[in-house]
Amino acid sequence: MYEIFADLHVHIGRSENGKPIKITAAKSLNFANIAKECADRKGINVVGIIDCASPYVIEDIENFLKTGEAYELKDGGIIYKDKVCILLGSEVETSEIARNGKCGSAHNICFFPHLKDIKGFSKELSKHLKNITLSTQRSDLSGYELIDIVEKYNGILIPAHVFTPFKSYYGNCTDRLQYIFKEKFNKIFAIELGLSSDTYLADMISELEDKTFVTNSDAHSLPKIAREYNKMLVEDISFKEVVKALKNEEGRKIIANYGLDPKLGKYHRTYCDDCNRTIETSEPVQTCPMCGGKNVTFGVFDRIELIKDKKTTKSPFNRPPYIYQVPLNFIPGVGGKTIEKLLDNFETEMNILHHLSKDDIEAVVGDKIANNIVRARSGKMIVHAGGGGNYGKIS
Ligand SMILES: [Zn+2]
Ligand SMILES: [Zn+2]
Repeated sequence: MYEIFADLHVHIGRSENGKPIKITAAKSLNFANIAKECADRKGINVVGIIDCASPYVIEDIENFLKTGEAYELKDGGIIYKDKVCILLGSEVETSEIARNGKCGSAHNICFFPHLKDIKGFSKELSKHLKNITLSTQRSDLSGYELIDIVEKYNGILIPAHVFTPFKSYYGNCTDRLQYIFKEKFNKIFAIELGLSSDTYLADMISELEDKTFVTNSDAHSLPKIAREYNKMLVEDISFKEVVKALKNEEGRKIIANYGLDPKLGKYHRTYCDDCNRTIETSEPVQTCPMCGGKNVTFGVFDRIELIKDKKTTKSPFNRPPYIYQVPLNFIPGVGGKTIEKLLDNFETEMNILHHLSKDDIEAVVGDKIANNIVRARSGKMIVHAGGGGNYGKIS
């Protein structure tokens, strides 16, 4: 067994021939570039690309396999340059009826072992939404229905960024995943935390006690890959091994979640859309205490306060640690040029964030920036909470 790094939520901006896939994501974010970025700069061993149900992307994958630099594994996944395993995924937006009768929508990341599986899934999914070529279009399926279709094509389903205000199960559909998945709830063995939450917040909800937590970047550009990721113990890199790790089977497991301090996330606290301020009250509020406005975007922290069923956070004994990491571009004084310089010298961001000594970093970027990087690595910086779609800030 050995340790690997996995980021299971990366989008595609455009197909190789320039067709839009996820419109809000960077143009350079295509299948081949993601593979290269993970291998050469990020040091990520397993990457889940979650726009592979788009027929344009399927075409790109077929061409990618023809280059000879990549091949499909029997155990599922595509191996690139013998360094990176790519998991073929699809993020699906489901339509749910909340307990108050209102409609909510939730995101799910689904992964499939082989190209033929995701091709079959793509064809079937296309009957349930308007435009299969674009990323994460709203489908007429519920999560309860979707999981059967995913399993039909040998896939797995992970509820995505489960607490975010607009597009998630806890954020705008339900207080309990059990109400959504009913007797199929045991088929859900992992959930994605999302940037604005962490293990300690999620472990306030008792139905999540036996679920694995995954931390992924939800990257919309190449530099953002691996701003959150998982350290896994596996025998090899493949779809099958990753599924075993997510299910905690045969010694395979996630041994650490690396993620942002949730305060840095875009939706950590409730935000007033009338006076444009983050509301940091101790109890969650529906009305802005500063201006009386009622147009508030609920924060992840506040939402969990509202729906939690435990008084204090208590993780099950086998829950891996959640390690706060500050991506380089959040660190004061570290701009694009500094990052290039660091990567030229130390190859990958993982090296810079986890392995190098202060002296090594200082030799390249000087005392002041090296100090900031080391302080950020050890969690010694003051963080101002994000909200309403604005990232938190470090001072
Ligand atoms: Zn999403
Ligand atoms: Zn206000």
